[in-house]
Formats: sequence, structure tokens, C-alpha cells
Amino acid sequence: MATDIQQEAADQVAPGDEWGTELYRIAANQFDRAGMLLELDPEFVTRLGQPRRSLVVNFPVRLDSGVVLNLTGYRVQHTLTMGPTKGGFRYGPDVSLGECAALAMWMTWKCALLGLPYGGAKGGVRCTPRELSLPEVERLTRRYAAELIPVIGPDRDIPAPDMGTGEREMAWFMDTYSQMMGHSVFEIVTGKPVVLGGTTGRREATGLGVVYVTEAVCERIGLDLREARVAIQGFGNVGAVAAAELYAIGARVIAVSDATAGLVDEEGLDIPAVARWMDDNGMLAGYPDARQVGPADVLEVPCEIVIPAAREQQITAENANRLRCELIVEAANGPTTPEAERILRERGILVVPDVLANAGGVTVSYFEWVQDHQRYTWDELDVQERLRRQLRAAFGRVIDAAERLDCDWRMAALSVAIERVAEAARMRGIYP
Ligand code: GLU
Repeated sequence: MATDIQQEAADQVAPGDEWGTELYRIAANQFDRAGMLLELDPEFVTRLGQPRRSLVVNFPVRLDSGVVLNLTGYRVQHTLTMGPTKGGFRYGPDVSLGECAALAMWMTWKCALLGLPYGGAKGGVRCTPRELSLPEVERLTRRYAAELIPVIGPDRDIPAPDMGTGEREMAWFMDTYSQMMGHSVFEIVTGKPVVLGGTTGRREATGLGVVYVTEAVCERIGLDLREARVAIQGFGNVGAVAAAELYAIGARVIAVSDATAGLVDEEGLDIPAVARWMDDNGMLAGYPDARQVGPADVLEVPCEIVIPAAREQQITAENANRLRCELIVEAANGPTTPEAERILRERGILVVPDVLANAGGVTVSYFEWVQDHQRYTWDELDVQERLRRQLRAAFGRVIDAAERLDCDWRMAALSVAIERVAEAARMRGIYP
């Protein structure tokens, strides 16, 4: 009888089905392709192909009105082989187990490519932050932190900001964990305010890293970044910082967007003025000194470099044919679908994969965690120099692998990462 029931369950839920989302399909598809390219031993396809742990929590939050909301939160840890797990948590209306699983897998490859001593994780709460008051977001964050206690810890799993979360949430998260432990535990999260054990340079790190990687890539392919026209989708913590830095070094940022509008000026946007408009109005729509287009249209503006820095799955089979650029630098996680990638490859458009392009964030998170453990702080120049060096070294590994395996940069980056994790898994063996 028991076996019948188990059989029935197995018939209904195929392995991996619990992660079943479009984003997980994309992550799994990339892993499978890299595994084939590497002729990866099937043992490691089995051991690394799915997340090792996930926690799903349902918890009540009392709204200011007195009404109680039931919220669902997640934390997925992809591999426990490399050390503690690391990755952000996000707030958004479509956060799901499958989305967190895909993002956790990418975190594993990102950390391995950069040589950071972490496995990948990701979490989140399904909610609509802009409909919540500040005290509601605080209660939600503190309760989510408390719910994660069984699986997190400074040497177990270290969360960080992601979409819809930032320094403020990290401070509440750290405080909640510290209250439960009875003393301040700075190293439980990264991306904290500097005064609470955060590091200088973490807030800008992802956007700055995007620019460092773009510089290294441009040197490699012989494109003069200072002459290049750049279009950026997304004007949040990543897109806005990348735009400001590119503007500062003299590149021509001709298009930016947020969820409300796209702004285009072929002569180059005045990025400091756009940033001031954003600060004052909370959105790009209405900015007077540029042509306004739809948010997704900025991807299709003729230019040399497109930087998707918004959400996942923005470059698809539907629009990949309309892109008019030489280079795509994936500042967002998972912005390009495998179908789009095939089209881009045929069209000769180079793609710098997310696991390299946006790895500046987690790299400086690692610096923060190290400083917290050492009770010793580095200065900003030190952080930026080390970040630049680490990203350039990772790009070097990608270039070498692309030549050795005769493949594109995404497959090269994933191969370097998978080889490293598989090697560690092989040497650790299987318990018991
Ligand atoms: N959420 C960021 C990412 O996707 C940073 C994670 C971290 O700093 O741990 O890479």
C-alpha cells in the first residue's frame, strides 16, 4: 500500500517538479548544456542539478489597519559543498520557490567563478512592497528573519539585498537575529549600513562591478568604451550606479529606463540630472530633457552596448532579432532566455553572462563578511582595487575556458564554476 502511494506520488511529481518555473528551466538548461560541454560525470549532474535545501514558510503579518496578512517566504540553498551559502533575498509579487531555486543555482556558479568560499542561496517573500507602509515592511522583515533561524547563520547561510530590499532591511534582519542570539552578530547578513558593520563600497558594488567587467571586455574586443553608446534597462541600485560610473568615465549613456518609462537621447543623457529627477520624483516618467519611450524599448535602441539591469527574462525570442548592439552585459540575473541567446549568437552579438557581469555585489559582500569576522575595516580604495582585480581575474578564467572549450562566454563561465564545485564535491565524497 505504502509503495503504491509512493509510486503514485512519483508519477505525479517528476524529479525537480517542485522547482518548476520558467526561470528554473532556464538555469537548469544552462547547467545541462555546460555539463555536456564538460562531459561532466553523471554523478555530479545528479549532485549539483537540484538545490540541496529549501525552506518554505507561511507567516502572519499584522497590517497597520489591524488586518492580518498571510505571507509566504522562501530560502533555497543550492549547494552545501563550498562552505556556507550566500545570496540575497527579494520582495516582490511573483517571488516563488522555483524562482529562488534558479537564482540560488546561479549564486553557486557566481561564487565559484569568483573563487569565493560559498555555495549559492536565494530567498524572498511574495508581497507587494510599494503597497506596504514602512512599519509593515519592518514587521515583515523581522518575522521573515525569525522564520529563517533554523537554516541561516554567519557560518551557515548569509543573506544580502536583492530586488526590493536594501540596507534598511539588512539592518532590521541583523537586529532581529542579534536579539535572538543575545549579542550583535554583524556577520549574519551583508549589504548592511556601514555604521552597523557594513563595508564601504557595498551599495555601489554591483553597478561598479558591471563597469569594471565592461571595461575589461571592451579592452579585449577592441571597443573604446569612451566612444561607445550605452543603453541601460533599469535605474535601480545596479542600473543607476552603472549609468553614473559610465557617464563619469566619459561613455555616452543614450538610454535608460525604469518600470514607468524609457528615456532616450542619442547625444547622451545628462545622467546626474536624470538621477536628481529620480530622487525628487521616484520615477523616470516625466523627465523633461529626453525623448520618452516604453520601458522595454531601450533594449532596441541602436548602440554598441546594452546593459539589462532590471529583471529576468527581458531578452527573449520575441525581441532578440530587434536588438541593434554589439555587446550585451547582463547586470540583472537571468535577463536572456536560451532561445534569445541562440538568436544573438547567430547574429554575432556577444553576451557577458550575469554570473560574471553582476558578481561585484557578492564579491564585496564577501569582503564585508571577512571584515566583520576580522573586526577590521578596509578603506574604499582597498575595496575597489580588490574588486577590480578579482573581476578581471575571473574574466581571464572565462576567456581561457572559452578558448579551451571553444564556446561562448556563458558556457565558459559556467564551466569554470561547475568544474570547481564538482572537484570539491568529488574530494568530499558522499556521506556516509
Ligand atoms: N543579490 C545579489 C546577487 O544576486 C548579491 C548577493 C550577495 O551579496 O550575497 O548577486
